[in-house]
Parts: sequence; structure tokens; C-alpha cells
Amino acid sequence: MHRMWSDGRWNELTMAHGCYWGKCTFCDISLDYIKVYEPVDAKLIVDRMEELILKTRQNGFHFVDEAAPPALMREVALEVLRRQISVSWWTNIRFEKSFTGDLCILLKASGCIAVSGGLEVAFDRLLKLIDKGVSAEQVAHVTRNFTEAGILVHAYLMYGYPTQTVQETVDSLEMVRQLFEAGVLQSGFWHQFAMTAHSPVGIYPEKFGVVKEAEAIGTFANNDINYIDKTGIDHDKFSFVLKKSLYNFMHGICFEYKLQDWFDFKIPKVTVPSDYIEKALRKETKFAINPTAKVVWLGGKPDTESFTKHISYADNILKKRKVTPYKN
Ligand code: SF4
Repeated sequence: MHRMWSDGRWNELTMAHGCYWGKCTFCDISLDYIKVYEPVDAKLIVDRMEELILKTRQNGFHFVDEAAPPALMREVALEVLRRQISVSWWTNIRFEKSFTGDLCILLKASGCIAVSGGLEVAFDRLLKLIDKGVSAEQVAHVTRNFTEAGILVHAYLMYGYPTQTVQETVDSLEMVRQLFEAGVLQSGFWHQFAMTAHSPVGIYPEKFGVVKEAEAIGTFANNDINYIDKTGIDHDKFSFVLKKSLYNFMHGICFEYKLQDWFDFKIPKVTVPSDYIEKALRKETKFAINPTAKVVWLGGKPDTESFTKHISYADNILKKRKVTPYKN
């Protein structure tokens, strides 16, 4: 995913202004660029794509949305397929359950090659505290759907969230290890939590067990706040190991290492069952169709053949009498 960000050239567009979720407690949700959600019509998005292809001669698109809405992604995919244009595109999403296996296949058919999304702390207590609206199990299902459709998945990972314990950091690393081992994640990056002035944590620090050391300077790019986490944990000491282990997992190696082997200081034992993700992936997902669902045929033009079947007079009489003809 880092090569996708840095190499080559992409036409940049957005599907929507702002974020349709707008709830995560570490995010600048009080600012317009997140708070004001204004989706663009799918037809207009594809018009813009066609214009940009003509102008730049490039058919690769990076939708730089905060979190592209699944329903709009579906509409854009259908419009791309309807117009039969050949494009590659990728974007940022939330790992929510509307990304079913079917939707991921449709997105892939329209040229979607990669998605990135916030898994953050990969631990359910903290995901609730963040108000991320997803669970680790749900993320496993969604990332599997993307992976099976052939779409690369990158996860933003976070450590040092207010009140996060050492145990939770270790368990979160274990979740990430299992997701890579199951092959449903291909790329990731650990970010250390930063408290920003316009996030709920920055506005109401007392609710999240942190104390501000000083106010931010207040301008858009200078909005980080120094704070003291009441747990007193030095989260910096995990940085190197989290990144080093992730680097190896991304290369498909070292899954068999005990987590303690990565650290040069003592860590608590993992409390996550070693088959947590495997079991989650084995669970059947409910297949429900809503009455307004459409069937989309992604194959080529089917061959059709018409024929007339004649039934003999004798067969017809037997059929009416419900008699099965004797055959030996
Ligand atoms: S972190 Fe992402 S999903 Fe959450 S509110 Fe911010 S932009 Fe939306």
C-alpha cells in the first residue's frame, strides 16, 4: 500500500465531502472536513472520471475520501460497468458489514484494486470506546470478503489510545498477527495515538481518562495536544516491536513466534484464544436479500437457444391420468 501512495500517478477525486460515520472519538469530527457529509452523485463522479481520463490520459483513480460510503461505491461501480470504461481505483473505507462478498466482487469488476481502513486497536473494548462501529470479528469477515474478491486490504492500526493497558496492546498485536496469518490482511501500519484539539478526546479529555498538559496552538496543522494518560504507561516502548513484527507478518513470516520473543522486556501472556480469527471466519454469515435488491450479471453476453418440445398424444393422455409410463 505504501507503494500505491508513493509510486506512479493517480487522478485524485472524492466520492463525498466529509465522513458519513463522523463518530470516532480520536478524529476531528467537530471540523467541517469530517462533520459536513455531502455525497456526490454517482453519475457525476463517473463523468468526472471520464473527463480526467481525457485530460490526463491516465485511468487510475485514488478516491481520497475520509471513508467512502459503501452504497455510493456500489453505485459508482455499477455506473463504471454500465459505461464500459476501463479504470483502476482505490479508496479509504470503514470495515463495515455492508461490504458483503457480493459487493466486493462487484467493486473488483469495476476496477477497485485496494482499500484502506481503520482497524485501529483491534480490541473490542477500545473499538467501543473509539465508537468505531465495528468489532474485530466483523473486520475479519469484511477483510476476507475484499481479499477473496482480489482487492488488497491495508489496515490503519493504533496503539496508546487513552486507558489502553499493556495487556490490550499485546492482545491487539495478537489479533493483527492472526489476521495476517489467516491471509485476510495484506498491509498495515501502526500509528501511535495523538490527541487533537478537535476530536472528542481533545474536547472532553476527562471522559477518556487523560489530562491536557497544554492547549494546542489551534491552527489546522498545529492541533496536537500534549496530554498525560492516567494509566501512566509509556506507549513509546512498544513502537519498535509493533512495527518490526508487522513488517514480518506482511511478508508472511514469523507467525509461529511467541509474542514475548519480539520484546526485550516482560509482557503479559496473550488472553486472545489462538484460533479467535479462524473461528470468527468459520462462522456463517447470514445471507439476506432485501426486496429491492437487483441481480447484476457480471459475465459476458449469454448464448441463447430456443427450441420447441413436442409431446406425443399418448404421453399427454398418460400425464393427464398421472400414470408413469413403464420402461425397462
Ligand atoms: S476516523 Fe474515519 S470513519 Fe471515523 S469519523 Fe474519522 S473519518 Fe470517519
